[in-house]
Amino acid sequence: MLENIIYVANIVDNTIVDGEGFRTSLYVSGCDIHCEDCHNKDWWDMKKGTPMTIEEAYEKINYDFTNITFIGGEPMMQAKSLTKLAKKIKKDTNKTIWLYSGHTYEEIVECADFYGLLRQCDVLVDGKFEKQYFKNNLKFRGSTNQRIIDIKKTLAKNEIVLWYDEFCIN
Ligand code: SF4
Repeated sequence: MLENIIYVANIVDNTIVDGEGFRTSLYVSGCDIHCEDCHNKDWWDMKKGTPMTIEEAYEKINYDFTNITFIGGEPMMQAKSLTKLAKKIKKDTNKTIWLYSGHTYEEIVECADFYGLLRQCDVLVDGKFEKQYFKNNLKFRGSTNQRIIDIKKTLAKNEIVLWYDEFCIN
């Protein structure tokens, strides 16, 4: 697994769809989940992305007030290098990090590298995009099987605690 290079498909500034508030979304390339109706199939090949060092990625996503989202693609394919980036963000800023993964929370905690990244982040949107559970008015997720999980509370209680927003009625 890569440790010092992050393959980046795109960086989207000031988005409000990839988590709470204004965020900068780091879309990594590479996905081995292969959901049937994925909208980002062009990003399944990691090497189609732009390779960046941890420092380069940090400079590109940390230029203003916005919080951070790791999304893809599948961030867990680059868990080691994203863990380093997340640690730097947490050390140098007070920004929150949302993490999207096609793996479920239960799968993530079973893998040391995945778990390492999870622990650095604040909110996890987990699971594959499932077309049969698609609803077009869902906030921050594509299908109802995906959960928005408060990572810190979940780890503290050792049971799933969903992130809650009064405007997130789905
Ligand atoms: S996990 Fe995301 S990027 Fe990967 S196939 Fe599913 S929807 Fe596409």
